[in-house]
Amino acid sequence: MAKKQFKAESKRLLDLMINSIYTHNEIFLREIISNASDAIDKLAYLSLTDDSVGLSRSDFAITITVDEKNKLLTISDNGIGMDKDEMETNLGTICKSGSFQFKEDMEKLDEVDIIGQFGVGFYSAFMVSDAVTVISKKFGSEEAWMWQSSGADGYTITACEKEQPGTDVIMRLKEDTEEEKYSRFLQKFELQRLVKKYSDYIRYPIHMEMETTRVKEGTEDAEKPEYETVTEVKTLNSMVPLWQRNKKDVTEEEYENFYHEKFMDFEKPLATIHVNAEGTVSYKALLYIPGKAPFNYYSAEYQRGLQLYSSGVMIMENCEDLLPEYFGFVKGVVDSQDLSLNISREMLQHNRQLALISNNLEKKIKSELEKLRDQDREKYESFFQAFGLQLKYSLVKDFGANKQALQDLILFWSSKENKLITLKEYVQAMPEDQKFIYYATGESKTRLEHLPQLEQLKDKGYDVLYFTADVDEFIPKTLFTYEEKSFKNALIDDLGLETEEEKKQTEQKAQASKGTLDFVKETLGDLVKEVRLSAILRSHPVCMVPDTGVSFEMEKYFKKVNPEMATDSGRILELNAQHPVFQKLELAVAQDPERAKKYAKILYYQALLIADLPLENPTEYTDLVCELLQ
Ligand code: ADP
Repeated sequence: MAKKQFKAESKRLLDLMINSIYTHNEIFLREIISNASDAIDKLAYLSLTDDSVGLSRSDFAITITVDEKNKLLTISDNGIGMDKDEMETNLGTICKSGSFQFKEDMEKLDEVDIIGQFGVGFYSAFMVSDAVTVISKKFGSEEAWMWQSSGADGYTITACEKEQPGTDVIMRLKEDTEEEKYSRFLQKFELQRLVKKYSDYIRYPIHMEMETTRVKEGTEDAEKPEYETVTEVKTLNSMVPLWQRNKKDVTEEEYENFYHEKFMDFEKPLATIHVNAEGTVSYKALLYIPGKAPFNYYSAEYQRGLQLYSSGVMIMENCEDLLPEYFGFVKGVVDSQDLSLNISREMLQHNRQLALISNNLEKKIKSELEKLRDQDREKYESFFQAFGLQLKYSLVKDFGANKQALQDLILFWSSKENKLITLKEYVQAMPEDQKFIYYATGESKTRLEHLPQLEQLKDKGYDVLYFTADVDEFIPKTLFTYEEKSFKNALIDDLGLETEEEKKQTEQKAQASKGTLDFVKETLGDLVKEVRLSAILRSHPVCMVPDTGVSFEMEKYFKKVNPEMATDSGRILELNAQHPVFQKLELAVAQDPERAKKYAKILYYQALLIADLPLENPTEYTDLVCELLQ
């Protein structure tokens, strides 16, 4: 019988499949099973109105059969089937499926592009087989037909026998090569694994005969129970995915088990979000906020994204477009019947439905986090411990483009409350006369707690936020203001606390102490830019202030990330004229200048220590202190 030729475009795709060395060729199984499921859908739908179908929901199934000797793998379904014409048009023409739009320049794309970006449907069988036979009987028809092809040279359609309506796709697997062991698709455990991976949530059972060993009946209680190997039909897929079920029917434990199994994380998830959306776009989603950051979270290795399903069939393992970068820690699955199985990765990026889903999910995640923040602060803090840095980095990224989304999710340590608080809480608790949001940057909370410069603010009852992460200081520079309050760095900015009267007094004191201040500057030489009286110190004698407005923490940060380019912020030594040590210093300047020089140096070193700046010559400092002690 004469062979029919494939349509030109189909032939090109077919060639591609036949010669494919695509590393994920295992997806052929997913494609064939999905076609079978679609065919069953059609008959199941018909059965609702047509009694002659004679099958009920529980009768439908997909069956995998393996004939190892002849290298045959068969996927059978009892779905709607195809008649002769349908075989001709559906299996002879690839363009039919519509989702596969052939471009004129298809040759330019390489094979991985095409297979990876487009679903490839029925023809993917040719990635792993050298001959494919489709036997089908259309429901309601008496005839059955057999479509046969070994690829490039075309196909034949002949009449055949088949008892029940439905379709068998019989694939003769290619010979094994060095690179590819096609025979693995004849191994039952491998098939079971692939079904679990790609087709676990197909709505109909996927059956396969498997051998199991069990205790022989009647020997259970014997001293030595006997074992036998039996063949049983096993259902390989779990069918109804958790996310398809009604929220109220799923237990906490089920949510957790699913998370552990699916995402290989044995920590308890911090929160679970189950969405069932109907409307412009219908989808179901099951999202988890992990309890801990994965060890590689802040590295390029970490794979962001959600698993994307179309009607229970996995189409993408990590769909990054479903989550904004700042919620990249969220794990989960999204399933939408509005997405075609054969949609390309490229097309997904511009897909309107996907954009809607991702927008929706972002809102859900945000409101879940807000709920935790407001109702379960302890949990929120542990979330923040794990992923707060991510939120902060994303907040300062792109000039604060995500400010609205993120600024209220961030926590800082409050000196007054002695706990983590939000900016909103800070502003709400501000005393009436407080105009600014104060913060101080430093290596650790303990260090910041004892900073002399904060005494005045604390005395006034003002809260100071402790910034201990590198990224923190960029936040006020990104936000500029929060609820119209601007930020002040308590360690360098003019805190705006002095009255005109007080300013005058400081001025006068500075005049009176000019001799002492000049003396100290002369002693220290280029080590400091300036020596002046402090307006803010209370019970401590000294502090160091940067000259350039760039904080010492920022200086240290730049030195760490770019040592070549970083420069010093300039040091200004501030002395507290109220402190007894200052009076001692004044006295020494007048009576014993050699001793006064030593005081000056010690005070300089102390200011460096408090600012957590390196001492170039620590031994000089310790020697000086020892001398005084003796
Ligand atoms: P798509 O599934 O995207 O339409 P395929 O190449 O996978 O593209 O399949 C082409 C067509 O062949 C299907 O649309 C369907 O009409 C038909 N078909 C494939 N497998 C079966 C099957 N098991 N039962 C009935 N029809 C099938």
